[in-house]
Amino acid sequence: MNDLLRETKSACPYCGTGCGVIVQARGDRIVGVRGDPAHPANFGKLCPKGQTLHLTATDDVIARARLLYPHLRTTRETQPRRVTWEEALDHAADRFARVLQQRGPEAVAFYVSGQLLTEDYYVFNKLARVVAGTNNIDSNSRLCMSSAVVGYKRALGADAPPCSYEDLELADCVLVAGANPAVAHPVLFGRLLEAKRKRGTRLIVADPRRTESAAAADLHLPVRPGTDLWLFTAMLGVMVRDGLTDAAFIAGHTEGFEAAAAVARSFSLVDAQRLTGVPADDIERAARWFARAPATLSLYCQGLNQSSHGTDNNTALISLHLATGQIGHAGAGPFSLTGQPNAMGGRETGTMATLLPGHRDPENESDRTDLARRWDVDALPTHRGLTAVEMFDACARGEVDALWIVCTNPAQSLPDLARVHEALRRVPFVVVQDAFAHTETAAFADLLLPAATFGEREGTSTNSERRITLSRAAVSAPGAARADWSIGADFARRLAARVNPQHAAAFVFADASAVFDEYRELTVGRDLDIGGIDHVLLERAGPQQWPLPRGTAGAGKTLGSARLYTDARFATPTGRARFVPVDLRGPAESVDVAFPLALTTVRLRDQWHGASRSGEVATLEMPPAAI
Ligand code: SF4
Repeated sequence: MNDLLRETKSACPYCGTGCGVIVQARGDRIVGVRGDPAHPANFGKLCPKGQTLHLTATDDVIARARLLYPHLRTTRETQPRRVTWEEALDHAADRFARVLQQRGPEAVAFYVSGQLLTEDYYVFNKLARVVAGTNNIDSNSRLCMSSAVVGYKRALGADAPPCSYEDLELADCVLVAGANPAVAHPVLFGRLLEAKRKRGTRLIVADPRRTESAAAADLHLPVRPGTDLWLFTAMLGVMVRDGLTDAAFIAGHTEGFEAAAAVARSFSLVDAQRLTGVPADDIERAARWFARAPATLSLYCQGLNQSSHGTDNNTALISLHLATGQIGHAGAGPFSLTGQPNAMGGRETGTMATLLPGHRDPENESDRTDLARRWDVDALPTHRGLTAVEMFDACARGEVDALWIVCTNPAQSLPDLARVHEALRRVPFVVVQDAFAHTETAAFADLLLPAATFGEREGTSTNSERRITLSRAAVSAPGAARADWSIGADFARRLAARVNPQHAAAFVFADASAVFDEYRELTVGRDLDIGGIDHVLLERAGPQQWPLPRGTAGAGKTLGSARLYTDARFATPTGRARFVPVDLRGPAESVDVAFPLALTTVRLRDQWHGASRSGEVATLEMPPAAI
C-alpha cells in the first residue's frame, strides 16, 4: 500500500508566479513533483526551482537541514535543548505575558513572511491585534511590495493589481521596468516569449543591466539605477507633446491630469537623457510604442519598489497607463509582479503594521471599529505599528522585549545587517519559527519552533494575478513540526489565558479551512470580496481570482473576475483614477569621485531569497558566495 504513488495538488513555495505543483508521494515521503497542467498560471510548466522541489524534501535534507523539534535555551551562550510543544509554548506565553504586563503592548513585535499561507498570516495578525493588543506586526513583504500597494491605492483607489496573466498573451506592447522576469519569474517570461513569437509583441525593457530579459527586448532602455521616475516622466512628456494621450479617457475617467502633464512638460528630453542615460530617441520611441499599441501592459517589480521613492515610481508608471487609456481592457494595464509566493495574502489579510484584514486601514476609525466588532473586542490598538526596518531599529534601541519571527531570515536579508544582528542580541526574548534549522536568524533565537513547509501544509496562497490556490498536504510534517497557523493559534490561546482569557476561544480552529472561512467573512462587501470561495470550491473548481462574492460562483474553472476596471470605474471615492503629482527625484545617493560605483541587487534564477531551501539542492546553480 505504501508503495502506491499518490498525487496531491499544491503551489510552488518560491516566487509570486504561483505555479501549480502536483506533489508525488509514496508512503510519507515526497518522491517527485510535476507542474499542474490545469493550473492557469503555469499550465504544467515549472522552472528549475519548481522542478526540484522534491529534492528539498529528501530524508537527507530533512535530517540535515530541517528543524524537527522545539528547542529552548536558557542563555544565548548555552546550546538549545529539545523541549515539548507544551513547555515551549507555555514558556513563550509566560515571557510575552510578562512583557505585556510590565512594558505594555508596544514592547512586543511579530515579524512574519510572504512565504506563509493566508491562514497562517490571518492567525498571527489576529493574535497580534486581539491578544497582544499591538499593531507591531509586519511582514518581510514590506521590503518588496509596499511601494506597489501604495502606488495602486494612490492612483486606482485600492490595492488590487488590475491585470491577469492572460494579458501577457493579449498585449501588443509590454514594458518591463525594475524587473528581470527571465530569471525572477521564469514561467511568466516563457509565456511572454511565446506570445512574442506568435503575435510579435513589442518588448521594451528598462534596466541598468543588459539582463536576460533585456537581451530578448526590441528596445532596451539602459536607465541609470534609481532614475526610473525621470524616465517615466519624460515618456509622459513625449505623449503630451505629440498628442499621444487619450483625451476622452482622461476627461471621462481620471482626475489630476493637468498637474501631472505640467510637470512632464517642464522636464526636457535633454535633461532626461542626461539624468537617466537613456538616449532621447529611445525615450521617444518607447513613449510612441507604449501609447500607440492597441494594448500595452507593464510589468514591474523590486527595481521600482525598493527605492527611496518607490511609491512615486509606481504612480508615475501607472500615470502612463491612465494618460493613454491603457488599462481595463484585454492586454493592457499596470501589473506588479509579486516576488514572494503569498505576498498578496499578507496584503489581503492585512498582516502588516499599516493594514488590517480585508484592505482595512488601522488609522481609519471606522475600519477599526468595524473589525473590532467582528473580532468581538472592545477596541483595536490605535498606536502606529512598527514597519520592518523600524521594528529592528526599535529592537536596537531596547524598546522591544519579546520578538516572534516566522518563516523569514532577517539576520541574513535585512539591510544594515550589523545593526540587525545587534538589534537581535538586544531583544531579551526572541522566538524563531521556521522549517529550517540553520538560518542566520536561528542563531539569535531563545526559542526555536519547527514549522511544516511545502508538501506538508494545507492552506491557500494568492499569486500576482489575484489568484488563490489551495495547497493540500501530501505527507505529514517530519518530527514534531506543525502548521504555522496551528502554532500561532496554540500560542494565542496560552497567551490569552494569561492576559485576556476571554479571547482564548477565538483561536480554536478545527483546521486550516476553518481559519480561511473566518478570514473570508472579513472580505465580504470589500473590494477583494471572496465570500464565494472556500477550500471546497478551490478543490473542486481549481484556483480562483478575487473578487468572487458569494453567489457568483458557478461550475467551471474560470470563475472570478479576470480583469478589473473594465468599466473604467475605479475604486476611488469619485470613481475616477488619479494622476498623482510626483516630486521629480533621482536616487537618494549618487555616484561621485569619492564613491564612483553604483551597486544594484539582482536575482538568480535557481536560488530563492537566502537559499535556506533552494540551497539544499545540489543541481541548482549556487549563488556566487556559496561557490
Ligand atoms: Fe513557478 Fe516561480 Fe516556482 Fe518557478 S519559482 S516554478 S516560476 S512559482
